This record gives sequence, structure tokens and C-alpha cells, in this order.
Amino acid sequence: MKLTPALAAAALLALPAVAFDVDATDWLELGGELSGVAGAPRLAGWGDPLAGSMVKLELRDAAPLAPAFLVLGATQVDLPLLGGVLLPDPGIVLGPLATDAAGMVEHAMAWPVTAPTGLDLYFQYWVLDAAGPQGFAASNGLLATPGAPATGSFPATWQNGTDCASEVPIQVHAYNQDTYILRQSLCTSYEGPFLHLLLGQEKALLIDSGDGAVGLGGTVGAIIDGWKASQGITSYELVVAHTHSHGDHTGGDGIFAGQPNATVVGLSKANVEAHFGFTNWPLDIVEYDLGGRIVDVLPIPGHQDAHLAFYDRSSANLITGDSLYPGRLYVFNAALDGNWAIFAASMQRLVDFVALRDVRWVLGTHIEMTAVAGVDHPFGSTKHPNEHVLELERKHLVELNNAMQSLGPTPVIDIHDDFIIFPIQ
Ligand SMILES: [Zn+2]
Repeated sequence: MKLTPALAAAALLALPAVAFDVDATDWLELGGELSGVAGAPRLAGWGDPLAGSMVKLELRDAAPLAPAFLVLGATQVDLPLLGGVLLPDPGIVLGPLATDAAGMVEHAMAWPVTAPTGLDLYFQYWVLDAAGPQGFAASNGLLATPGAPATGSFPATWQNGTDCASEVPIQVHAYNQDTYILRQSLCTSYEGPFLHLLLGQEKALLIDSGDGAVGLGGTVGAIIDGWKASQGITSYELVVAHTHSHGDHTGGDGIFAGQPNATVVGLSKANVEAHFGFTNWPLDIVEYDLGGRIVDVLPIPGHQDAHLAFYDRSSANLITGDSLYPGRLYVFNAALDGNWAIFAASMQRLVDFVALRDVRWVLGTHIEMTAVAGVDHPFGSTKHPNEHVLELERKHLVELNNAMQSLGPTPVIDIHDDFIIFPIQ
């Protein structure tokens, strides 16, 4: 990636009230201060330097009401400058910004969003200061090292309904230590839905509860108990939310309703809005904090009015429910209720959202395609002998959106290698 001034300037925002995860290991103070009127200016950083996440930089102990320049670079050069040392390569110089009466500059910025994982960035402030040896003071250098998204794995194959004598009702797969993917057996429901369980430090988010009657409570409870024990967590909460309200995604809700420390999000759009705090549906995006783990929640109506997508920043996985998975992407009442256009708009917003972020995998909630391009298992089949893999990628979302934008206003079935756009009425 080339870090351009335009990119960084566009990322700089004045956002006073943002919650930050403090993760000191990502921020290294390097020294190199050049003292001024108030001593050595200090520069500190907070937040997870992950693409799209908010980070905060704070300069203190600088000259009050003085022009200040923020230097950003991708390498450390240690160049002698104005009686001090310039640490970052001066790839970008932002400013002048102004210190306040207390000699501070504080601002939030979105981590450069097109930055590939692992890009280090060096920061240093230079402040006009008559007390500096050559009219400038400088802060310590600051190195931010983005944490890589947590990786994970998929099983070689999912239970596919071909051997019901040996299948368990719910297949549990640990994608990694704090992310689980559960699949309800096709032997119990031809939908064979997938459920996603994300574990944060304060709460677990179960996305969907399956098609019902498969002993899900014990399965989820055991995962959570194991997680709590491994983390030394005693107080914990479970939130059961949904990609959307259809029965094959909500059938297990009753198991959790009324349980201690469990919240089941209601199914109506109003319930969903109230729980997540949407104020401008479907345009706003909510940051949902599980405790040290932020999930961005986006309304993507079309398949269903209250459909959501979930972007897990820790894994960079995007959970797309029934709006994108390797199968038939049903758009119900496509013409009748205008859902065709609504779905197209949702996919455009989702593409716009991920354009600024890493996406490792796009994960839906069913598999209906076979491993043969463009060929699906018949509707209602409870055996999927040659299933497509669950995981899709950014390119599939882009392909879906391009199709939706180019197919025009009249709903039409459109077969792709890895999914089928499937309007109904
Ligand atoms: Zn479904």
C-alpha cells in the first residue's frame, strides 16, 4: 500500500466521544523528544490499529496555542532536524494543527482503511516553540503496529446429511479459540442452518438459533462454560441475536429466553433497532461491543425486513446470513414489496462498508450449492453429498452487488458459480 497524504487526511476526523480499547502492546513510545517551553512533549496512542477501527492520538506538554505538525511515515529514519531527531520518514505531514491552551492536541482517526494488515506506522509531532533550540519542539516518536486479524480454520467437510446414524444434531466447530461455527444437521432440518458464536470478554453473541429442537442450549452453554474457565471470567452474558427473523434462524430462541444472564433479541425490526440502538435504519452502522471485541452491525434488508450483517473486527469475518451464502439467495416479494431494489441497495452499502476494511471470509448461514459451479442441491434436499464450502470471499460480495446493480429493476433469477440470485414474485 502507498500511504498517501490524501488517504491519511481523509482518515483524520475530529471525533470527541469514541470508546477505545486500550491495548498498550500495539503502541510503542520510542523517545526522541525535543524539549520546548513546557518540557518534553508527550505523544501517546490508544485503540486497536486495525483497518477501519478508531484510534486516538494525544499530544501533551507542548507549547500552548501553537501550530503543530503531525508527521506520519511507514519507516523510522532518525533524521537530524532542527536540533532534534525526526523519527518517521516524512511521508506525510499533516498540519498545521493547533495545540490548545493546555498545550494539547487530541484527535481520533480511523486507522488507514486500505492499509494491509501488518503495516507499521510511525508518528511524531513537531510544534512551533520558541523555547526549542531552533524554534521547534518535538514529541517522542510513536510506533503503532496493527494487530493481524485472528485467523481460524474450517472443517474439511461439514456434516452433510448423508449418514444420519452418525451425525450429531449440532456440529460444533471452533474456528479459533473465541469464535465458533455451529451447523445444525441436515438430518434434523433440510435448511441445515449455520450459527455463529462470538465470545468477547463481557458477553457472547450467538447469531441465530437454528431451526429448533436440537438441544442447542446445552451445546452453547458448554462452549461458554469452557471459554469462561479458560479466561477466568465469572460474570458473563449471552446475547442471542439473529441475521433475520425466519424460523430456521430463530427456532432455538425459546431455549434461551428467560435464562439467567441471557438476552434474546426480539424479531421485529423495531426490536432489532431498539436492542442495537439503530437510529437511522437502514443507513447507520452500530458498533456492538462484546468486551474487547467490537462487531459492526449493519442493516441489510431485502431477504427480510430486519436482516443484519455482522462484521467481526477481531477476525475480519463478515457474517451475511441469508443475504449471501453459497446457495439460493431468496429475495421474497421482490417486485411486490420492492424488495428487489431494497436488496440491491443493501448490497451496495455492504460493498461500500467492506471497501474500507479487511475481509478474511464472508460467512453465510446455509449451503445449497454443490461443489460444481452453478449447480445447487435440489430445494428441500436433506443430503448434500457434494457440498460447496461455507466460506466465501469479498469478491463474491462484489460479484453479487455488481449483478444486482446491473440486472435492472425487474427481478430475475441469475445463476453464478457460487450462488444464485433467486427472486420470488
Ligand atoms: Zn435461512
